[in-house]
Amino acid sequence: MIAEIIAAGSEMLTPYRQDTNSLYLTEQLNDLGVTVAFKTIVGDSLEHLTGAARIALSRADIVLFSGGLGPTEDDLTREAAATALGRELHRDPTLLTDLAKRFAARRMAMPENNLKQTDVIDGATILANANGSAPGQYIDTVVPNQDGNGVRKIVILLPGPPRELKGMFKDVVLPILAPNLPPRFLAKRTLRMGLIPESQVDARTAPIYKQFTDVETTILAGHAEIQLHFLCAKDTLAEAQARVEELSALVEQEMGDAIFSSGGESLEEIVLLHLGMRQLTLSTAESCTGGLLAERLTGIPNSSLTFAGGVVVYNQAMKTAFCGVPPELFATHGSISAEVARALAEGIRQRTSTSFGVGITGLAGPSGGTGLDADKPIGLIYIAVATPTGTQVKEIQIAGDRDRIRLWASQHALEMIRQ
Ligand code: ATP
Ligand code: MG
Repeated sequence: MIAEIIAAGSEMLTPYRQDTNSLYLTEQLNDLGVTVAFKTIVGDSLEHLTGAARIALSRADIVLFSGGLGPTEDDLTREAAATALGRELHRDPTLLTDLAKRFAARRMAMPENNLKQTDVIDGATILANANGSAPGQYIDTVVPNQDGNGVRKIVILLPGPPRELKGMFKDVVLPILAPNLPPRFLAKRTLRMGLIPESQVDARTAPIYKQFTDVETTILAGHAEIQLHFLCAKDTLAEAQARVEELSALVEQEMGDAIFSSGGESLEEIVLLHLGMRQLTLSTAESCTGGLLAERLTGIPNSSLTFAGGVVVYNQAMKTAFCGVPPELFATHGSISAEVARALAEGIRQRTSTSFGVGITGLAGPSGGTGLDADKPIGLIYIAVATPTGTQVKEIQIAGDRDRIRLWASQHALEMIRQ
């Protein structure tokens, strides 16, 4: 079965508000083995909303509306869904009594507008809203298709405020929807890779995953990594897991060491795990990344077992004071140099008595360096990792703006520690 989500609200067609409800609903539907094939965001226009509802009903088995159930002029979802289904709205007496009681309890007169909230599509089940006044609606029906045959459609109307929508979906919709769907079991797997272009990942893995037509594969790029998501729905969990396992093993074989995690863990988690298993400790001395590496490591619970700490040593005096970088290195090589990165890594490692020390220095831009660093290009980064068996130094050139350069520098540093 496939679903379409219609998010109603003109505010989501502005640069200021995003439709997040559909992300939640997609996750919930996927867990039921339902694929979301379409999402539509529609402004508060009856014509547009009705049009979107008609299209959704023509192409999806399940249509979920988010928003537009309030009492105001721009709350039009009930009317649009009813029209698209070819049904009438009726004023529900029980809802009317409940609503009147709500207002009476607050000693307020009920505005005429609010009566809209008691309008129910003929044949719909009313969904209670524990967190607000607008009830939802649920319709499980058979409609004729173009050939005159009947096709089953499930239409669900949910309120827009995320807290109300989530509460209603979990507590009221799931108990009705789940038992009414064919049983499907889902298996998921995420492979994460860093420092490799998306095009390369796709070129190498597409020939493999394209053979698994029953596994939905998604490639996501961002935050200095590439993720491959596999999702498979089958009649039994064992079947679904076996297919995902089979595909994942082939892709892991192809991509080898480029994959840093196959269980969803982040790169910093993996680095801490690898070091922790060998009872190794780590310290950092960061210049251009300004503590980003330390921030990523300390974002992981219990990282203190492995990560001893770090310093942000931005100017030369600090590099000397905290890591013992010899001042003459700045005079002979500049701050942005392999020599300074090495001195930072070795200095912090020695002064903190950790197994590993990391040093990062570079030009994050947008303005260039001074003195000996004046002619060095923006994005030039030196990373050193000092270990009990020696120090490895890497020179890398990162493209992009300041944020991107700093993020990728921290990613390179983590990859150096991992390998
Ligand atoms: P209300 O009674 O509050 O009017 P409603 O069901 O009519 O409820 P909307 O008016 O569409 O819902 O939305 C109410 C608020 O909920 C919006 O201002 C917005 O902040 C939030 N909201 C609506 N739709 C979404 C969405 N798709 N994703 C995230 N937030 C949403
Ligand atoms: Mg509203």
